Amino acid sequence: MSNIEGKVVVITGASSGIGEATAKLLASKGAKVVLGARREGKLQKIVDEIEADGGQAAYRVLDVTVPSENDAIVEVAKDTFGGVDVIFLNAGIMPTAPLSAMKTDEWRKTVDVNINGVLNGVAAVLPTFIEQESGHVIATSSVAGLKAYPGNAVYGGTKWFVRDFMEILRMESAQEGTNIRTATIYPAAINTELLDSISHEGAAEQMEGLYEQHGISPDRIANVVAFAIDQPDDTNVNEFTVGPTTQP
Ligand code: NDP
Repeated sequence: MSNIEGKVVVITGASSGIGEATAKLLASKGAKVVLGARREGKLQKIVDEIEADGGQAAYRVLDVTVPSENDAIVEVAKDTFGGVDVIFLNAGIMPTAPLSAMKTDEWRKTVDVNINGVLNGVAAVLPTFIEQESGHVIATSSVAGLKAYPGNAVYGGTKWFVRDFMEILRMESAQEGTNIRTATIYPAAINTELLDSISHEGAAEQMEGLYEQHGISPDRIANVVAFAIDQPDDTNVNEFTVGPTTQP
């Protein structure tokens, strides 16, 4: 039996892209997945597709910036499937633009979704994971969280935060002996709806060119999330950097 089968996995940002691909893959491997995002129609459709394929899934409409909604999706996991074993903190936006464009509303929104969304998700599961002395927190950072890219000052900053936060969560959990596993994923160009959040024309054009040339399927990220979960409980897969072979 795999270490995925039977696990209850909460996934944020599950209505498209990496979250959707991961929900479908994990469900096909016997996980019980609970999908969260804001677009209910998309979530319902994905749950229907998973169930039609014989998998188990539920959803809850979720804005990750609202703490109580993160608590609520964890409650849905417990009520529907009897517990929570894994949370995949994946919701994110990337409104790339040079700082000189002064898109200050987008700066704030990016911080709120990409940083507060991660904090709210962790806060929603940590007491349960500590109490049950097991759990797995997986987060989507980015290659922009490893390297500086002009245009990504704010987005990149939020993804550097995710890296640091996840590493410290891992270290503290190990020190405290709570048996919580952590994994941080650093994707490069993955073909999803992410570029839709770019309002700056020049930045959008540049990113579209990059993704058209190099982008690969979100399935590739789903594969590494599944790999991390599938390892034995005493084994922590700390990090994965995954992107197109051709991307410089
Ligand atoms: P998508 O745009 O396809 O997916 C983003 C997901 O986040 C959607 O499901 C969206 O759903 C959700 N989301 C956005 N805002 C919120 C919110 N406030 N509350 C809840 N959910 C929200 O892009 P990806 O699949 O690419 O993005 C997933 C993650 O991967 C992001 O964190 C992104 O930064 C990261 N990443 C992606 C890369 C890529 O090349 N695609 C590269 C590096 C990292 P909804 O609108 O329904 O709420």
